[in-house]
Amino acid sequence: MSEDQSKDASYKQRMQRKKAHIDSRIEEANIDKGIIVLLTGNGKGKSSSALGMVCRALGYDMKVAIVKFLKGVQDTGEDAFLVKQPNVQTVFMKTGFTWDTQDKEYDTAMAVKTWSKAQAYLTDESIDLVVLDELTYMISYKYLDESMILNTLNNRPKDQHVVITGRAASDTLIQIADTVSEVKDIKHAFRENIKAQKGIDL
Ligand code: ATP
Ligand code: MG
Repeated sequence: MSEDQSKDASYKQRMQRKKAHIDSRIEEANIDKGIIVLLTGNGKGKSSSALGMVCRALGYDMKVAIVKFLKGVQDTGEDAFLVKQPNVQTVFMKTGFTWDTQDKEYDTAMAVKTWSKAQAYLTDESIDLVVLDELTYMISYKYLDESMILNTLNNRPKDQHVVITGRAASDTLIQIADTVSEVKDIKHAFRENIKAQKGIDL
């Protein structure tokens, strides 16, 4: 056998072993249930990843509810798109960032009001995917009681998926989530004084 033929044969063997391993892992993963995906970290890509999953769900005619905590003052491209989608319901807290309002009592009241809408979705079996965008801040700023949130998440309809976004997710939120990703900030155009770009940042 030439050196090239022997390399080909060993490559083929490696790939066969890899395929057998992947196939057996796929076969083992036979649980079908609603999951919690948590996207945290300081890098860009958390809310936009959540919207990627919304697109996937809509492709299967699934019903989606999106609750945006903290933000929603500035209109974004996705908001303009989502209001036209018949299978999407959206709720905006619309208070902006806390450093905009500087009024804790008002922020807390708005958070509680917005959470009551999230709660309605999280008890509604007809909703397949609930996005809780920037929810982590509601916990870290103590606008909402974490145990109340965890309780609602744990008791939601069993096939319902939830995607939670926001920086500095609490350990308890990490514990109850099924899939957790931390987006790492390596560089951001904003630090080079490039303003938020349509279609990319908003
Ligand atoms: P995106 O909505 O783009 O996926 P995100 O949800 O990960 O971003 P947020 O913390 O919610 O990030 O911030 C939203 C906005 O702030 C976006 O316009 C985003 O581009 C910008 N942003 C995100 N990360 C950074 C960063 N590290 N420095 C500066 N701006 C950022
Ligand atoms: Mg975000």
